Amino acid sequence: MNKILTLFLISIILVSCKDKKDSSDEELAEKTKVPVYAWTGGPGEASDAELVAKFKGFKDHGIDGVMYNGGQNPETYKRVGKIVKDAGMEFHTWIPTMRQDPNDKLTPELFGVNRLNESAFDKPAYASYYTFLCPNREEVFSYLADMYGKVADIEYVDAIHLDYIRFPDVILARGLWEKYDLVMDKEYPKYDYCYCDKCVADFKEESGIDIKEVEDPTQVQEWKQFRYDLITKMVNRLAEVVHAKNKKINAAVFPGPTIAKQLVRQEWNKWNLDSFFPMNYNDFYLEDAAWVGEMVKEEVAAVNGKKPIYSGLFLTKFPGKKSEHPDPEDHGLTPEEMVDAIELSMLNGATGICLFTPDKMTDEHKMQI
Ligand SMILES: [Zn+2]
Repeated sequence: MNKILTLFLISIILVSCKDKKDSSDEELAEKTKVPVYAWTGGPGEASDAELVAKFKGFKDHGIDGVMYNGGQNPETYKRVGKIVKDAGMEFHTWIPTMRQDPNDKLTPELFGVNRLNESAFDKPAYASYYTFLCPNREEVFSYLADMYGKVADIEYVDAIHLDYIRFPDVILARGLWEKYDLVMDKEYPKYDYCYCDKCVADFKEESGIDIKEVEDPTQVQEWKQFRYDLITKMVNRLAEVVHAKNKKINAAVFPGPTIAKQLVRQEWNKWNLDSFFPMNYNDFYLEDAAWVGEMVKEEVAAVNGKKPIYSGLFLTKFPGKKSEHPDPEDHGLTPEEMVDAIELSMLNGATGICLFTPDKMTDEHKMQI
């Protein structure tokens, strides 16, 4: 049995040996294993046999469920889902929400507009793929409800996993400033969404404030709340669609939600989801593994301990070689740091963990799971 599972087994035995006297070791291990999920994707050109081998490998390394990113075609999830379920794991479909590539149904006017009046359709912030939709459009909800609904209909799908369920980063995580050559000490107009005609008009009707006439919109609390609520309403309507099909729905979110609100306008503690997967990616915030524990503490408290929190951990492919890899997206937890982050997550009330990604795991990472 590996180190982490053993640690928790021992602690459970210590606190509850009286009640568990007649339980076998095997039963205890089953009850105390840390639930492990993993973000992964494909299938690319992989054959069924290759997928079977990949997911059997995941299962053998203690992974209990897969968040699978395979595009929007339900047939892909039907094929891969059966293989994942046959391997004995949960199958969650990981499909971005507000970030979408333009297509016949997602026309230019449905994309978000920043405070410089630039559309994410043809002038996205940060990177060409940052084509975020406006969350205040009925056509956007209809598109997403139809797309997620068709995937939720597939028998092998246990849950819909939302991602990019947010505005573009109005503030970028501190560890990414150098990569993008930015200093984001406040909300700058280029990264501040959504100032489309509908958002401006609806906010004026609701609050009486014409946000385009305000000297510094970043100081208007009602305007922040209006945008938190747009995302919350979108999530809760999608949750109704998925729950009506007797499937679960959850999301990858930013940490906190204090950080999530500040950076991407996610007030996720108000969302009617079945569980949350906060991306507690310490290296993105120039923090260490101890910070992961602090985040989980806040996250569990934010949902009053009533919804499962799966602590998202960002692993490095290059343990011990951070300085040779300037891109922070190559950084992440080493095997030793991962052990600390798992322990601190569980001790602070997480229900389990989620790894980004098993494909980046070194042999030493795998030994610890
Ligand atoms: Zn808008």
